[in-house]
Amino acid sequence: MFINHDFIYKILEETKNPTNEEIKEVLEKAKKRDGLSYKDIAILLQAEDKNDLEEIYKLAGEIKKDIYGKRVVVFAPLYVSDYCVNNCVYCGYKRDNKFTRRKLTMEEVAEEVRILEKMGHKRLALELGEDPVNAPIDYALECLDTIYKTQNANGEIRRVNVNIAATTVENYKKLNEKGIGTYILFQETYHEDSYNKMHPKSLKGDYEYHLTAFDRAMEAGIDDVGAGVLFGLADPRFEVLGLMMHNAHLEEKYGVGFHTISVPRLQPANGVTLENYPYLLDDKMFKKVVAILRIAVPFTGLILSTRETPKMRRELLKYGVSQISAGSSTGVGGYKQREEGEEIKQFKTNDERSPIEILKELLDDGYIPSYCTACYRKGRTGDRFMSLAKSGNIKYVCEPNAIMTLLEFTLDYGDKELYDKAQEIINTEVENIPREDIKNMTKASLEKMKNGERDFYL
Ligand code: SAM
Repeated sequence: MFINHDFIYKILEETKNPTNEEIKEVLEKAKKRDGLSYKDIAILLQAEDKNDLEEIYKLAGEIKKDIYGKRVVVFAPLYVSDYCVNNCVYCGYKRDNKFTRRKLTMEEVAEEVRILEKMGHKRLALELGEDPVNAPIDYALECLDTIYKTQNANGEIRRVNVNIAATTVENYKKLNEKGIGTYILFQETYHEDSYNKMHPKSLKGDYEYHLTAFDRAMEAGIDDVGAGVLFGLADPRFEVLGLMMHNAHLEEKYGVGFHTISVPRLQPANGVTLENYPYLLDDKMFKKVVAILRIAVPFTGLILSTRETPKMRRELLKYGVSQISAGSSTGVGGYKQREEGEEIKQFKTNDERSPIEILKELLDDGYIPSYCTACYRKGRTGDRFMSLAKSGNIKYVCEPNAIMTLLEFTLDYGDKELYDKAQEIINTEVENIPREDIKNMTKASLEKMKNGERDFYL
């Protein structure tokens, strides 16, 4: 298997207590974008000294700025079914938790989508528990159809990323045919013994089958895959090296690694308290992990959810996070429940702000909130996306698209305060577009948009 446990233990042992010089050396190498070895990454993971950490954060911030500019992609999850045959120790949906399970009818899915569209969302992550009888692949496919066809005034969902359990090549082919964005699956933990302990007697309990899910997805033609670790289940340093090995395996075998990495931290949930988890990450370790991921895989998007507080989210955007969820509900039918004042969640969330409030803060901090979904619709996926990103040309496409979708959001869903804040950034950023032809095209599109036209994607 491509997660070599003994090798990870060995380099973690060898790199204990690194000197300032060793850390500096690795950071110099990272600055040159030479690519870091597992040992280099392990050295950074062992850094404890305050000054060393500051240097790591600084470099992560510079890399993020260089590659992603000021853009921050915004999305929301949509939970459609909490039926689950698994018994994941840490999860509120585990089968031992007795509560009335539900899955949304297509009318209810459409209702949730309409609420999300009214919040201005264009990009969703479809979430459901694993249950081949109550929520089989056909149910997920039907949900995708419903989501894409539920349009409402200017509201439409243009990209759906899908987070469903590990499955067969045949099922991944069906998902691919529906036109999904990224296929997301968290390994939860790369540490095999911990994985087995956390997933007792269940479909999800097969470490190897779970680990090879992206291989099957790629064989089925899905070329954007999004990984993740549920931080808190095992040693975070082991997990980061596990992520790197998984990514390297995909790059070697399929020519393209992770499109995104998510960094959820374990939260209390129904029937889940956090006393028995010796590896919970404190804020210092968490920030270090995010910054090191940014340095180690500069072109992979980093996703942060509302499990984190507004303060932590604001800080991690500086060190490397490039996508955040906003206005999220983590319960089945949760958006409607929220409107009715009785929302039930899969796990505790810590940022309850609406997308408008979050956008205002992003703008205050100088970011361009982006609802762009153009890459997926224009076929810029997999290695096509990566080569565009690596050549530095992505800025000619992403920046103008971010600016245009920001104006679209403010016109359709914003208030006066948001419009004014956005206008300021839009005016400055349009002038900063480095190519004259693209700058002029963008300006023309912005003008058209103010007159109600929407054909503006590069
Ligand atoms: N059923 C899908 C599967 O098996 O991959 C995933 C859907 S689940 C709704 C999405 C993710 O929520 C899980 O992969 C897990 O990492 C995360 N999760 C579960 N329990 C959690 C908890 N207590 N705190 C934080 N995240 C949790």
